[in-house]
Amino acid sequence: MVMRMLLAGDLGGTKTLLGLFSSRRPRPEPLDIREFVTLDYPDLPSMVREFLRTTTADTDAVRAAAFGVAGLVGEGEAVLTNVPWRVEVASLEAAAGTPRVALVNDVEAMAWSIAVLDGTELETLQAGTADADGNAVLVSAGTGLGQAFLYYRDGRLWPTPSEGGHCDFAARTARELALVAELASRFGRVDVERVVSGQGIVNLAEFTHRGRCDAWPTDVDPTDVPAYVSSQAMAGTCQACVEAFDMFVEAFGAVAGNIAVQTIPRGGVFLGGGIPPKILPALRDGRFLRAFTAKPPMVGLLETVPVHVILNDRAGLVGASVVARRLAEER
Ligand SMILES: [Zn+2]
Repeated sequence: MVMRMLLAGDLGGTKTLLGLFSSRRPRPEPLDIREFVTLDYPDLPSMVREFLRTTTADTDAVRAAAFGVAGLVGEGEAVLTNVPWRVEVASLEAAAGTPRVALVNDVEAMAWSIAVLDGTELETLQAGTADADGNAVLVSAGTGLGQAFLYYRDGRLWPTPSEGGHCDFAARTARELALVAELASRFGRVDVERVVSGQGIVNLAEFTHRGRCDAWPTDVDPTDVPAYVSSQAMAGTCQACVEAFDMFVEAFGAVAGNIAVQTIPRGGVFLGGGIPPKILPALRDGRFLRAFTAKPPMVGLLETVPVHVILNDRAGLVGASVVARRLAEER
């Protein structure tokens, strides 16, 4: 009998993960997962064709495929944020050999993983009062600040995409007001992502150092700055790095709290993306949760909301496999 597989992908600006999965419920089982350098290929269908041609999984038929992509997903196609590609469903259908292909926003794809992640893939910052029938939210901090809302209906969580990282950033302190004034003079508008993201850490560090830090290499790659700031801060070796990192952790908590009061996620706030697992000691030391809950008159509510960090760095691929499984089950 021919094995009917699921194909899932997580397409990023630098690397792309493709995987073949069995259609096990509720969480598809990985059979072969491979990492590709995105721009080594002219387009996503070429990458898919090579993967299916060379996979070690015993398959010759893909039942359904789903791809999480960093960008705005429209009807039948997506325009990517960090890759000069337009991804079209029709050409992916041809490459994967199935008419069942879905494109979803990468953060929405990660949100589809939340219902199937197990305890070892999460670090709980606040247990709260978990409600299995509650809504949930995903706040993904990496290069940018992605968000997705998950509504509980008919016995399951239904993710919806969001561009909430582009909401206006709300200053809470005199120091943050000064930050907003400086960033507004540079960028015209200060959205949340200008502060709470990898680029946000760079902006915060430039603010607290009045320029650059002496500890950074002279030819530092801007994408490496967040790691320099957090390591200097956690070691306590540069006071301006300490302040930038403190401001980041507290603003992250405050922004997550804003999302929580807007959505009342009794099922939990999930912190995803590349940054949270790298700064766990800082997220655990109380500053994040103090900023998260300090929203009177809603302190009591926010203390009951569970807060977890997603530790699985392939959660986006897991979520895409869940989307593919659901697509395969449609009549
Ligand atoms: Zn410094």
